[in-house]
Amino acid sequence: MTGPTTPSGTAARPRPDPDARTTPGMVCAHHHLYSALARGMPAPPRTPTEFLEILELVWWRLDRALDLEIIEWSAKLGALEALESGTTAIIDHHESPNAIEGSLDVIAAACAEVGVRVDCCYGVTDRHGSAGAAAGLAENDRFLRAGGRGHVGVHAAFTCSDATLEAAAGLAADHRTGVHIHVSEGTADLAAGARLESLARDDWLVIHAVHLDRDLPGVIVHNPRSNMNNAVGYARPAARPNPVALGTDGIGAAMLDEFRVAYVRQREDDVTATPETAWSWLETGWRLFPEALEDTVTWSYDRMDPWSLAFTTGVQATDVAVAGETVLRDGRPTRVDADEIRAKAAEAAARLFAKLEEMP
Ligand SMILES: [Zn+2]
Repeated sequence: MTGPTTPSGTAARPRPDPDARTTPGMVCAHHHLYSALARGMPAPPRTPTEFLEILELVWWRLDRALDLEIIEWSAKLGALEALESGTTAIIDHHESPNAIEGSLDVIAAACAEVGVRVDCCYGVTDRHGSAGAAAGLAENDRFLRAGGRGHVGVHAAFTCSDATLEAAAGLAADHRTGVHIHVSEGTADLAAGARLESLARDDWLVIHAVHLDRDLPGVIVHNPRSNMNNAVGYARPAARPNPVALGTDGIGAAMLDEFRVAYVRQREDDVTATPETAWSWLETGWRLFPEALEDTVTWSYDRMDPWSLAFTTGVQATDVAVAGETVLRDGRPTRVDADEIRAKAAEAAARLFAKLEEMP
């Protein structure tokens, strides 16, 4: 795959070479590395019956139980799994209300150790009072001020005051970056369009936009598997004027997998849809994280084109080079011990589950 130069001098969008086994590094445009240890977690106190209850009974309990050590092993496991999936760049959205300060450094260091690029943010919210929101803003500010690659995170408009939304937008502008925010994922956040209309900019990451009632500036990040899992409805990203990228919303970082789900979900809604559209959403990831174009992934399959990949499951990354350094060889990481990370992550998960069992 190459990035030819057009006569105007701007880089053309890279196109897959149907005869090649290699691509640039894949980009996961919306991840929650903290959810890597959540698999197998204790069942919630009762069965959630709608999206807001899924947040309240599952994710908002989990994020309260996170400490810096759990965050570290969760991020290492998530980064390892990304690398094993040919994903070299992760745009992460993090929340840990009882371990805010320094959390973004822990995630950035964990990814660096494994050899995966990461763009961090802390998801600000007023769910834990205005002091919690201030601490979240301070963590974004501290991390970006120290030179970290990131955005300013906001959980979602419906858990933030107008003052917090304005502060986050202002902080992002000060740091010349965008806001990374969940927008109208469920019907609880229907007011997001009106509340964000005067704040949003082209460099914002607008996550989900399932029930967004108007167009906002920014890149829409579509997470089809997560949207189906939460029964929030289909976002119909192809109908939006925005650039669209693909994320996993924390369900791993296997972007070929997410591409297949994105294609078939679109096809279910529109039988004239082709895999080219979902593939273009993967390509938008390289606009958000152009460094991944310097990376090379060698795959177990020699037809890395949208029409073949849409119907070919189980394609594996065998070798990955990030900025010229081989970080995955024959499916094994070169910088870290995969077995050790999995063992330590399992220990951290056991501690996390014990904390969840004790939580009211
Ligand atoms: Zn998310």
